[in-house]
Amino acid sequence: MIKKILFFSLIFIFSISCVNSNKTKKGDKLYVVTTTTMITDLVKNIGGDVIEVKGLMGSGVDPHLYKASEGDVSKLTNADVVFYSGLHLEGKLVDVFEKMGRNTNTVALAEVLDKRGLIGSEYFASNYDPHIWFNIKYWKEITIYLTEKLSELDPKNSLLFEKNSKAYLDKLDILENKIIQTIATLPKDKRILITAHDAFNYFGKQYGFEVIGLQGLSTATEAGVQDVQNLAKLIIEKQVKAIFIESSVPKRTIEALQEAVKAEGFDVKIGGTLYSDALGNAETNEGNYIGMFQYNVNTIVKALK
Ligand SMILES: [Zn+2]
Repeated sequence: MIKKILFFSLIFIFSISCVNSNKTKKGDKLYVVTTTTMITDLVKNIGGDVIEVKGLMGSGVDPHLYKASEGDVSKLTNADVVFYSGLHLEGKLVDVFEKMGRNTNTVALAEVLDKRGLIGSEYFASNYDPHIWFNIKYWKEITIYLTEKLSELDPKNSLLFEKNSKAYLDKLDILENKIIQTIATLPKDKRILITAHDAFNYFGKQYGFEVIGLQGLSTATEAGVQDVQNLAKLIIEKQVKAIFIESSVPKRTIEALQEAVKAEGFDVKIGGTLYSDALGNAETNEGNYIGMFQYNVNTIVKALK
């Protein structure tokens, strides 16, 4: 009996020390795996050089359809922590995360947001629209949550994380002011944003646009002929000047919509390519969240004016 108690106590002490130890799985630096390019960018901004960050998804990659490769699984199992967006954005990765749950620390960053403010959706198993990064206020909340999590996992660097976080939140404030000023130059009746899929509902709600996505909330559903016809009618009725391609969604549906509008004798332009569910190339200004947001707003406002 005593032996048994001793055995279980040892297991208990061992598991506690595992949880609390600051030792990382690989080397000295905290090894962090991230999913979307937006999350990767944020983690790099807060973590700086003192952590190692591996992003699974690259530029132009659609998170709704993304499946984990074998290489990804080994990265995930070696990770000290996995930060992902959540609310079932990464629809095909959810199972992988759930299976890993016991051995690897996984954090869905969007879980910190108050659900009462979110846009409901029957399409996602989460029951919410997951495209939360298009409200800068939510991105600030996520920045603060991420900073807390990194500080818990790597307490010796917590002061640096705090400092980086503060600097980044200031940049987000500046971004928010800038885009509000840019949008103010577009007359209210021209604020209709039509894109390939419904990624911009939070953007529309926060910054005053009517938003319509041809493919619905997820790219996993295709737009039907009827959807195209109905949207073409609306474009003509409201005299919408431009519609937009998205970098992570094939452009054929938006081109089909443009053709349908033309067939009715009205000309709608393709206003440009927006970054919706993925950032641009890492080397470009659109390769980071702030640059992407500014670029999207400039492109939208210029084309709809
Ligand atoms: Zn999406």
